[in-house]
Amino acid sequence: MNQIRYARRSYTGGPTPIEKLERLSEALGGPAIYIKRDDQLGLAAGGNKTRKLEYLVEDALRQGADTLITCGAVQSNHCRLTLAAAVREGLSCQLVLTEPESGYDPQASGNHLLFHLMGAEKIAVIPADGDMQAEMEKLADALKQEGRKAYLIPVGGSSEIGTLGYMACAEEIEQQSLVMGVPFDYVVTATGSAGTQAGLIAGLAARQSNAAVIGINVSRDRESQEKKVHELLLSTAELVGLKGDLPRELVRCEDEYVGPGYAIPTPEMVEAVKLLARTEGILLDPVYTGKAMAGLIGLVRKGTFRPEDRVLFLHTGGAPALYTYAETFLSEK
Ligand SMILES: *Cc1c(COP(=O)(O)O)cnc(C)c1O
Repeated sequence: MNQIRYARRSYTGGPTPIEKLERLSEALGGPAIYIKRDDQLGLAAGGNKTRKLEYLVEDALRQGADTLITCGAVQSNHCRLTLAAAVREGLSCQLVLTEPESGYDPQASGNHLLFHLMGAEKIAVIPADGDMQAEMEKLADALKQEGRKAYLIPVGGSSEIGTLGYMACAEEIEQQSLVMGVPFDYVVTATGSAGTQAGLIAGLAARQSNAAVIGINVSRDRESQEKKVHELLLSTAELVGLKGDLPRELVRCEDEYVGPGYAIPTPEMVEAVKLLARTEGILLDPVYTGKAMAGLIGLVRKGTFRPEDRVLFLHTGGAPALYTYAETFLSEK
């Protein structure tokens, strides 16, 4: 990989910690489970998009952009972090949001409050099935008329450039694994727009690591998610000139934990969020990491892992969303 061509901004002080989850491992009675705390990455209430943005914003600055434009759901961690990165760099930020079923309420809590606090320049709300890319291009054209220059970031920051953030994370994991003397057999992560999983697979392959990546889907079915991850894996490998085979079999996604759909709670998610909170004092989120942990728990119960395996769970962030789902958890014991 060409280090100069892929320079990045730096939004986190150092590597995020890897911790052993003694109590959770004991409660489940399966393999040894560890956690990589990417919920402690920099920018406003961190999470996996921070790593992608380190490369994306570098690219934007090099192109001379003065405004970042991106898109997502109203409670998108990616939109919040893109706005935070823009603020940090002295850039403007415009967002395209899809309208939630309950209607768009700019007075609502969660991200709305944060978009307001950090000063998003413009928020365009489009119907849930609207064309986010077309809307972003419209905003970019309007800026061009004013002599400004926008940099467009796709959903979840999952372009090839953004995916480099998780190649770098894989490198970080490999180094930590060496220092700790703990070779990981599996890395388990939530998978949505695919950059996290694709980057991890590419980065681990680049280091000839034996760790296998398991993605737990948060929206699509297995077939379409595996295809999406594999395509991004190949195009990212091509961008960085990664040699060697990257067969489709490297991509494994589990779709049993999605439930009725994206961001819709499941009993397994509620159990997983509660279990982590009560065994380890770690907060997961209802949309991504809660379902990913439900997947990990389900796989342990199915006997997927050997007792001697070492499984690394990637905490991709998202806990701010917990507060917008209070009743889901408070109606439980
Ligand atoms: C976006 C997101 C994911 C999914 O990562 P992708 O790279 O989009 O697959 C997982 N967890 C959280 C908290 C996220 O915000």
